[in-house]
Amino acid sequence: MNTGKREIPYPVRLNLSRTPTPLESLSRLSGKFGIDMHVKRDDLTGADLTGNKIRKLEFLLADALANGCDTVITCGAAQSNHARATAIAAVRLGLGVRLLLRTRDPENPPPLEGNILLDRLVGAEIVWLTFEEYGRRAEMLAAAADSLRNSGKIPYVIPEGGSNAMGAWGYVRAVEELAFELATLPGAQEHPTTIIHATGSGGTTAGLILGVKLLGLNARVVGINVCNDRDYFLGVVGDICQTAIDTYQLDLSFSRERDIEIVDGYVGSGYGKAGPKELSLILEVARSEGILLDPVYTGKAFYGMSQELQRNPEVFGDRIVFVHTGGLFGLFPMADQIAPLL
Ligand SMILES: *Cc1c(COP(=O)(O)O)cnc(C)c1O
Repeated sequence: MNTGKREIPYPVRLNLSRTPTPLESLSRLSGKFGIDMHVKRDDLTGADLTGNKIRKLEFLLADALANGCDTVITCGAAQSNHARATAIAAVRLGLGVRLLLRTRDPENPPPLEGNILLDRLVGAEIVWLTFEEYGRRAEMLAAAADSLRNSGKIPYVIPEGGSNAMGAWGYVRAVEELAFELATLPGAQEHPTTIIHATGSGGTTAGLILGVKLLGLNARVVGINVCNDRDYFLGVVGDICQTAIDTYQLDLSFSRERDIEIVDGYVGSGYGKAGPKELSLILEVARSEGILLDPVYTGKAFYGMSQELQRNPEVFGDRIVFVHTGGLFGLFPMADQIAPLL
């Protein structure tokens, strides 16, 4: 396989993100760990649209428009980056948006801060779900679509995190950018690279795996899960990859056990919860590199990567690309937990 020699069968896409994002060297941390560390700045895909979700939404919302839809429905955690990016992008396209967000007590929804503030600012309709209802999110999304249809709307349902075969194309495209960027480094694309990132709903991991295969990049893809566990993600990521391969008739060999690498053990005290270890790491990266990681995804993944490297400096080879998938707005609701560390 040769990079650039194959036509990649991308579906239609809207141009909503500030891409290509830069690949930057982490010079202080490279020195500390004794390897070549880079960061793919997908936190720079947009100011309000910061993060990985807009890459998936470029394909998903193009599909929504192609299908004549006028309202987008999606779901997520209360502080969902995906919900916020969907809300802003949908408004920009003139589409209505309904968000199904989970919270302990829908009667007392969480305060107007971080992503929730932005969701409300752009006028997204928010429906608060209990954790029990969120467990049946496919059913809840389908019911929301039915009710919109009954009021004459044409809804488009986007699953949690935008993670399905269509959304995964966003990260195939990111790998294509990366291939060009790696070509400018010593040893170019032939030099083995490990691409490390946070895994939350699985679509980014699936897209990166498919992208590396489609482009024939000499890279290993490692996801660090921030919720659930390794087995769960072998299932979810495996299903997205397999559906994409079947739907788009991709000519590549794929095996869950061989191709999906999830490093488990860094969920900490639970999804969305960050303790002193992860927060201290966020502080260290902020102060040594001027890079702002988030407490829910990138902070945990970077913490996991550092722990693995401390245990065995050779575990990821001598060149790492950490994908900074965004999440900046998630820092603000954590100010109280961060304050004691300053
Ligand atoms: C959603 C998200 C992730 C995880 O991506 P998935 O495709 O859902 O696995 C990582 N980082 C940030 C900041 C996110 O918002």
